[in-house]
Amino acid sequence: MLTVKDLHKSYQVGKTSYEVLKGISLEVAKGEFVAVMGPSGSGKTTLLNCISCYIPLDSGSILLGDTELARLDEESLASVRNRKLGFVFQDFLLLDGLTVRENILLPAIIGGTVSSMTEARADQLCDVFGISAICNKYPAEISGGEKQRCAVARALINHPLLILADEPTGNLDSKSSRTVIRSFEQAKSALGATIFMVTHDSFAASFCDRVVILKDGGVWETLEKGSLERSAFQDLLLDAIREMGKE
Ligand code: ADP
Ligand code: MG
Repeated sequence: MLTVKDLHKSYQVGKTSYEVLKGISLEVAKGEFVAVMGPSGSGKTTLLNCISCYIPLDSGSILLGDTELARLDEESLASVRNRKLGFVFQDFLLLDGLTVRENILLPAIIGGTVSSMTEARADQLCDVFGISAICNKYPAEISGGEKQRCAVARALINHPLLILADEPTGNLDSKSSRTVIRSFEQAKSALGATIFMVTHDSFAASFCDRVVILKDGGVWETLEKGSLERSAFQDLLLDAIREMGKE
């Protein structure tokens, strides 16, 4: 589904170049829920922005299915972003002047694919994520957790191959975080979605199938949940992060 190979990325600040990603390789299989963890400044957002093609990479490759993203022209890239990828951000990025339902339909409106089927899909997503009762409200009238579930529904409206989420629970209290993570779990189990989530929250990451831990621009460790209970997996993640801090 997603294959990142030997990805390098540096930022130019004045005359100095800082290498933030120093050869990242990872894979996400179809239907997997994968998290990327790592300390602040370890390059998580940079990695996600390279995968989204919001910023150019220095070297390496990013394959979405059979498509090499760096080789696409602007037009094809816009189409991949609209149809094959779904985005969820820390600060929700809903449009204030649109209702919840209209926000969810937005990628379909932009892609010019609104039909009775997409409208039905929006209603189904509201139902799956427990936001049907508020679907005619505006973002200012709903809670943070509801906003983010709306954003998850919006990310799924075009049946994307992959959902990319950057700190989706970063602005939420623990109860709302739980409902948002639950919406990702439902997206995976009920809709077969594939999710790649950046987070520094071990609680959020403990719901994932696999967690990739970044340190100093590289993959430090990858942990599999396997048959572990969620709380045991969270303990494993916390141990790994503590261990990393010692080095
Ligand atoms: P994370 O999301 O893990 O906190 P980021 O990917 O945002 O980390 O940032 C990684 C490093 O790159 C940080 O040291 C940050 O200051 C630096 N950085 C991020 N964006 C830019 C930019 N546009 N120009 C220069 N440096 C940047
Ligand atoms: Mg970040």
